[in-house]
Amino acid sequence: MTTDGAPAAAPVARLADEFSKLPGIGPKTAQRLTYYLVRMPEEEARALAEAIVAVKERIVLCGVCYNITESDPCVVCANPRRDRNRICVVEEALDVLALERTNTYRGMYHVLHGVISPMNGIGPDDLRIRPLLDRLHGSDIEEVILATNPNLEGEATSMYIQQLIAPLGIRITRPARGLPVGGDLEYADEATLARAIEGRQEF
Ligand SMILES: [Zn+2]
Repeated sequence: MTTDGAPAAAPVARLADEFSKLPGIGPKTAQRLTYYLVRMPEEEARALAEAIVAVKERIVLCGVCYNITESDPCVVCANPRRDRNRICVVEEALDVLALERTNTYRGMYHVLHGVISPMNGIGPDDLRIRPLLDRLHGSDIEEVILATNPNLEGEATSMYIQQLIAPLGIRITRPARGLPVGGDLEYADEATLARAIEGRQEF
């Protein structure tokens, strides 16, 4: 027991508990990470803690495309050389990074921050679908590329958005097949992703 009456292991248990809240981290991994940190040099642990705080203090969502960014609007939205007539709709900010790495696509983005997933209680209103429609209404946008992941929920989400956009008369496309079915966009290799975006097809 420490002087305040808390067991000495409380900080360890607390850290393990925090780790176990992260996606893909079970109780065993949470413990392993915690004991790794206990043995880590103090300056390294401090650097990690500061990096976590910096992400929360400095990262915001772009007010135009909802990409994660340090400045609002984000670098893509603020770049005058991007093609403003095209919007590529993706599930997560990581998908923007993956597409940017291909150096193929020069248009704008719109990040949904998830997919429609009734099983997980996520409906259209939980995603950034309404702001997408607001961007499209009365705009000069010529094409919307629905680049959700090629799995059941991704397809259903694209279908839902397609039905909302269709009355606006804007061209709607999808990345070409060739992306691994059931896989995530962010894990596709650059060449595959570049081919899929370049060879996009009418929805
Ligand atoms: Zn943006």
